[in-house]
Amino acid sequence: MHFYCNCGNRISDTTDYLSYKGYVISDQDEFDFLDEIDRAIEQSGPSAEDKESAAMNVRRLWGDLTRTVYQCPECGTIYLDNDKNQLRGFARGNENTEKNLLRSAKGDAWPGFIYGDWVDQKPEWREKGYIHASILPEMKIYEDWESLESDYMVLFQELKDKNLLRSGLLKKNGEWIHSWWRDQES
Ligand SMILES: [Zn+2]
Repeated sequence: MHFYCNCGNRISDTTDYLSYKGYVISDQDEFDFLDEIDRAIEQSGPSAEDKESAAMNVRRLWGDLTRTVYQCPECGTIYLDNDKNQLRGFARGNENTEKNLLRSAKGDAWPGFIYGDWVDQKPEWREKGYIHASILPEMKIYEDWESLESDYMVLFQELKDKNLLRSGLLKKNGEWIHSWWRDQES
């Protein structure tokens, strides 16, 4: 989905890891959520299915109890869902407003991602090739596979060396050419 800020900026919510999107939970709901985590750890049964279902309950409750908040990266205005899932702008930003209030609590040390995708036969709706990465201000578009692949590898290595990466994925014509997850590195 996307919407337009009062300042005219288009705010898009179509990918993960958005630095201008966050979640808020009411103080009235906080303990219900923490209790559900306690239950999952202390009272879920011993089997893998029990664990899976306890984890799903925590995730479901997170979805139910949190509301989405966005901050316009251009003007700093904050938008928040009401309890009927309608977006309400309530805090108008100005030139002095910090524009990155919703980025990771880890700030510049947040381990980001890199994702590259290429198709030989391009459909109407998409670019032939692009790289989307947390350190790039916007998606980088490519007209040939070789440049895309080499840029991907350089960026991937740079982010990985700096410990600023959680996942790297490169896809060509629907097939994975390269994939790396921080959590799966032994
Ligand atoms: Zn705005």
